[in-house]
Amino acid sequence: MRISNRKRILITGGAGFLGSHLCERLLAEGNDILCADNFYSGTKDNVAHLMGNPHFELMRHDVTFPLYVEVDEIYNLACPASPVHYQWDPVQTTKTSVHGAINMLGLAKRTKAKIFQASTSEVYGDPEVHPQPESYWGKVNPIGIRSCYDEGKRCAETLFFDYHRQHQVDIKVARIFNTYGPRMHPNDGRVVSNFIVQALRGEDITIYGDGSQTRSFCYVDDLIEGFVRLMASPDGVTGPINLGNPNEFTIRQLAEAVLAKVGGKSKLVCKPLPSDDPKQRQPNIEQAKAVLGWQPQVQLEEGLDKTIDYFRRFLQS
Ligand code: NAD
Ligand code: UDP
Ligand code: UDP
Repeated sequence: MRISNRKRILITGGAGFLGSHLCERLLAEGNDILCADNFYSGTKDNVAHLMGNPHFELMRHDVTFPLYVEVDEIYNLACPASPVHYQWDPVQTTKTSVHGAINMLGLAKRTKAKIFQASTSEVYGDPEVHPQPESYWGKVNPIGIRSCYDEGKRCAETLFFDYHRQHQVDIKVARIFNTYGPRMHPNDGRVVSNFIVQALRGEDITIYGDGSQTRSFCYVDDLIEGFVRLMASPDGVTGPINLGNPNEFTIRQLAEAVLAKVGGKSKLVCKPLPSDDPKQRQPNIEQAKAVLGWQPQVQLEEGLDKTIDYFRRFLQS
């Protein structure tokens, strides 16, 4: 029996970097949040400040196993996102994307919940089309060290669209480009957290390759706004839809920007480039602008300041 008009929202991977910001946002909007996470790359600390709220519930759960709950909306974020984490147990990474998608889609089918999938720019692989529109099918190595993540996410997209066509599940698929901000894991190996932590500790800043490869960095608050708008979009808007900040930087430019802000005595040093590392990446966000009225508001300078502040406090605590 339903005794409240609040929306019941399941967030898988809710104790991770993006998930914890999404829990916060949706809780503040007056919803009941069920956060399901197996703490593979996320931590209870990320949601500790929400634990006293009676409308927030945290459960330890691995999405590769079935989950029977009653919900109105599902945000499926469970999956390690940084190469260091997803390559640590690649078989589990593929299982998380594929079995996780099947279970969450089965749950959405039974409960008639709307379901959002956190897909990724990695479905475009090392792209030959630049910037990447949603219509580009990508260039992905199926057997490389990144494939567990890239192909797992591609297969999850396939499952989402087949559940939509075959079972009329209401799907919302976002392709997320590199996002940064407070609560990134300090040791997860992603470039923004690595460079900031290295600069704050006065250690060498590790540029992989010659630093000419590019990425486009989106601040977390902008991204979460995009998630919420996509979930609220009219019936029939399924995506996939790119969410990211189109301002593109070389990795060397990022290192120089972080160093200029933090100061200190760190030097830029070059390390080998990991295999299959994409050379360039920039979202085409025309669809997000047209369909969701969304575009990022926070540019790199401001976002870096907020993220540096967070890591400075984190490292002192
Ligand atoms: P994260 O690693 O901080 O969060 C992922 C969360 O999922 C963690 O809390 C982890 O413990 C949990 N998890 C992993 N496997 C699980 C499983 N089998 N069952 C239950 N929980 C599991 O990463 P993030 O940056 O917050 O990414 C969240 C989602 O967004 C991921 O699906 C990721 O692929 C996607 N994404 C992120 C980015 C980015 O730049 N941050 C870019 C593209 C896509
Ligand atoms: N599932 C789940 N929760 C539900 C309903 C289904 O976890 O509330 C899982 C279930 O374990 C199943 C998967 O989702 O394996 C796919 O469900 P679907 O109904 O599509 O397939 P079927 O049960 O027919 O295999
Ligand atoms: N990178 C780097 N130094 C680091 C960590 C990453 O030069 O300490 C590079 C990495 O090789 C890639 C880019 O920064 O070219 C972005 O890496 P990240 O792991 O953050 O994201 P992804 O490769 O998944 O886009």
